[in-house]
Formats: sequence, structure tokens, C-alpha cells
Amino acid sequence: MEEPEEALLVRYSEIGLKGGNRPLFEKALVENLRSAFAEFGPLHIQRLRGRMLVRGPVSAHDLARVAQRVFGVASVSPAQCLPRGLAGVKEVAVAQAKVALQEYLGRTDPIPMKVEVRRADKSITTPSVEIAREIGAALLQLDSRFKVDLHNPEVRVGIDLRGEGSFVYATSLPGPQGLPVGTTGRAHCLLSGGIDSPVAAWMSMKRGLRVDFVSFYSFPFVGPQTKEKIQKLAEHLMRWQPVSALHVVPFSDYQIAIRDHCPAAYRTVLYRRAMQRIASIIARRRKGRALITGESLGQVASQTLANMSLIEHASTLPVLRPLVTFDKLETIEVARRIGTFDLSTLPAPDCCTVFQPPKPVIYGRLKDVEEAEARIHVGTLTHEAVRGTEKIPLTLQP
Ligand code: ATP
Ligand code: MG
Repeated sequence: MEEPEEALLVRYSEIGLKGGNRPLFEKALVENLRSAFAEFGPLHIQRLRGRMLVRGPVSAHDLARVAQRVFGVASVSPAQCLPRGLAGVKEVAVAQAKVALQEYLGRTDPIPMKVEVRRADKSITTPSVEIAREIGAALLQLDSRFKVDLHNPEVRVGIDLRGEGSFVYATSLPGPQGLPVGTTGRAHCLLSGGIDSPVAAWMSMKRGLRVDFVSFYSFPFVGPQTKEKIQKLAEHLMRWQPVSALHVVPFSDYQIAIRDHCPAAYRTVLYRRAMQRIASIIARRRKGRALITGESLGQVASQTLANMSLIEHASTLPVLRPLVTFDKLETIEVARRIGTFDLSTLPAPDCCTVFQPPKPVIYGRLKDVEEAEARIHVGTLTHEAVRGTEKIPLTLQP
């Protein structure tokens, strides 16, 4: 028998993919997988129907670990590839099941198991059920704890018989789901050092947006540790997208002008409007089609419906708020899962706590905001902030 070759079988969800969008989706997924696998050197990615097969000089388990962070991937299976046909399939299935059983070392009660055969290669005339039955029998012989359970299996042995070859696997690992980064466009996330905005950025990437980061930095009122913290957060988020940039906007002059000339109660709303105004310009120059924030309804005074609407008025792009209906605990749960929580909770002040009034307005009015902004040089302040912005390029992180 020919030695089977190891590869990674990558599945993507086709639900919601309209005919015309599918080639775009598949092409982006291949490109993003290639970028994610760059650390391993050149690999071979083959498209099969509804799947992709990745082969290279590294173990399929290493490939799996990386593919689990590529949006658009539904699940992955390290698989053994055999030439087209049934020769060797049973033996390899048994060997794969043996590997999967290593996870069940101490277990004594029955292990529900199922053999799933897909016979796309119709030149194989044996019916799928018959193939499944025969392999199932071999597995029952391998380990007496195995018990066939077609409805709730814990071990699924997959046999994929195709024209391109026969693929056998016994483990499936979940992918991050979502859509490949870049397929729904590009947006700019207002990234603070808090818990919320990094989660909002991650959720946007999950829906296929390439996310650039814009952060407002009020040096010297906040120190370099704040900038480093933001940079660490942005870099961490680069585990899920191939390329991006962090734009660090000098914000203290704007804040000083607001402090010195505008009603104290309106400061936070005015800071936020300034941020959206500046971020819209930066985004538009770089083909950004939306802004993203970590705002959540009712969380703080500036996140009432009235104030959020005043704030978004200053943006010339749509404002996406992935967390608008999230409870803080739900956001924290995601932050922990994606690993931003520990970075977000490092101590470092945020620019918005600078000159914070004791009693911020809760239901701000547009008329008051316009009056307040008439007292400062909005155009010049905006222009200067955009001009002083530092762009830090970001690349995929392992
Ligand atoms: P976060 O945890 O994301 O900071 P938050 O609940 O603390 O959110 P705010 O601090 O009021 O809420 O900020 C609301 C949103 O405004 C943030 O989620 C973020 O998108 C944006 N934002 C706030 N401060 C900054 C900043 N310094 N730079 C960039 N964006 C900011
Ligand atoms: Mg904050």
C-alpha cells in the first residue's frame, strides 16, 4: 500500500453564500490561509468542492492551530490522503481512530462513534452504507469501548471519497466561523485601551471586514505606556487579519480647546464628536467605508441614545457598534476568549478621563453642541490632528 500523505482538510460554511459571491469568498479564504501559513513556507492549497486541502512540510496539527484563527473557516480536520479508490482506506481509518483514542485514555464507559462516508467519486460502486458498516466493524474490533451512535457520536471517523483522492480523518476542530477578512470591505475602529473596542474590532473582522485602528493619544496628559498598551492590543488583534495599520492621532490640543472654551458637562460628547470627525477623514483617505466603536447602549453617560446620536452626527461614515446590545459581562467573556482582556486591564490612563467633568450631560442637545463647537476652531483643530497622525504598519502575528 502507498504511504498516505498528511494534509489539513478545511471546511467553510456555505450558508448565506449567494452564487455570485462564492468565488470571491473562496479566493479570499485561500489568500488569507496563505498569509496565515506564511511562517511555514510555501504550501499547496487545493480547492475541492466546499472544502480546501492544505499540504506542506509541517504537521497537519500545526496547520490546524493556525487555520483555527482564519475567519471563514467552519472546521478543520487533520486528514490522511490516499490515492483515489478504496485501497487502504479501512487500515488508515483504524490508524486514525487509534490516534483519536489517545484522548480517551482513562475512560471506561462506552464511546459513541460514527463512521461518515461521502462518496462523491461514483466510480466507486460500493454503496456508502456498506463502506461505513465495514469500517465500523473494524473499529468495534479495535476497541471494545466503541459503540455505534449515529445521532450523538463523540468520535466521528470521516471518509471522503473524491475524484482527487480519498481522505480519512477522525478529529474535527472548530474554526472561528464568520467570513474571510476583506470580503465585506474595510472599516476603521476607534481603538481605546478599554475592554470594549478591541472586542468590537474582533467581531467586525469576524464578519469579513478588514479593520484599521485609529487611536486618540493625549500626550503629555497620558504617557507612553498608554500608547504602548494600544499598540499591544492592535498587534494582538493581528492574529486574525493579514495586514492593517494603527493611526495614532495627537489629541491634546483639541481637548485643551474644548476644556477652555466649551461647557464642562459637554466635554465627553465633544471629545467623541471630534474623534469621529477626525477618524472619518483618516478612514476616507484609506478606503474605509465605516467607523467601528465599542459603544454599548446605556453603559456610560456618553452612550445614551441621545448622546450616541449627537456623536455619530459628526461622522461622515456609517458608525458600526457591534456591542450595542451587549452586557459588560458578555463583552468580558469574548475579551477573555480572544485574549484581549489581560491587555485591556493593564493599568494605563485613557485620554477621555482627561479633564473629565463631575456631571456629564446625559441627554445632550444638538443646539448646545453646535453652540459649543462654534467657540473653537473645529476646522483647524481637526486638520492639525489629521496632519500630526502617526501611521504604524501592522502585519499578521503568529
Ligand atoms: P472601551 O472599553 O472600548 O474604551 P468604554 O466602555 O470605556 O469603551 P468609552 O471610553 O466611553 O467607552 O468609549 C466609547 C468608544 O469610543 C470606545 O469603545 C472606542 O471605540 C472610542 N474611544 C474612546 N476613547 C478612545 C481613544 N482614546 N482612542 C480611540 N477611540 C476611543
Ligand atoms: Mg474607554
